[in-house]
Amino acid sequence: MSGCPICYSKNAKIESEAVDRQHIICPRCGDFEITKSLVSEIENKPLEARQRCIVSSLIRENTYEGFVLNTYNFNTYKDAKDISMLNRVDLLLQYVEKMNRSNNTLDYILESSNYEELLAITWSGYEISQLLTMAVEAQYLNVKSLNMGTVYSITLRGWERLAALEVIVKYFSTYHKAPLN
Ligand SMILES: [Zn+2]
Repeated sequence: MSGCPICYSKNAKIESEAVDRQHIICPRCGDFEITKSLVSEIENKPLEARQRCIVSSLIRENTYEGFVLNTYNFNTYKDAKDISMLNRVDLLLQYVEKMNRSNNTLDYILESSNYEELLAITWSGYEISQLLTMAVEAQYLNVKSLNMGTVYSITLRGWERLAALEVIVKYFSTYHKAPLN
């Protein structure tokens, strides 16, 4: 099939740079990489129109360096009920900051006991691990596997993101305090 494997745009440019993946430059989805195994999976089992739209939007939001659409993250994208995955990554980042603050540490340890609290951010444990992966890929979090468990720490970029989010919150709370009439 020619064109973008996700939105079918005929204006997409497809380059094969690696043996196992394609580089797509699509006017709708943006600039991203996709594994060849996922391309053939989609060809065999085409997406519904609604899924195409959601996946396309999610890809456009995810064009940070090193992002590759693969069979693993694609499953989350295709079943997403809306296009706010990145909003949930922000919520996750803020949650990690809150946990670090209350435990007075710079490391956040993911344990099964705090998994449930994380479920407030999302709807499945599967998605939590996907959001954590996205936060790491976006370089908001560093991840280390230690004996005590998986440890996440906020990176410089993560702190910058948190500062930017705070500005947004301040802006909107000021805005909402203004009289309506
Ligand atoms: Zn596309």
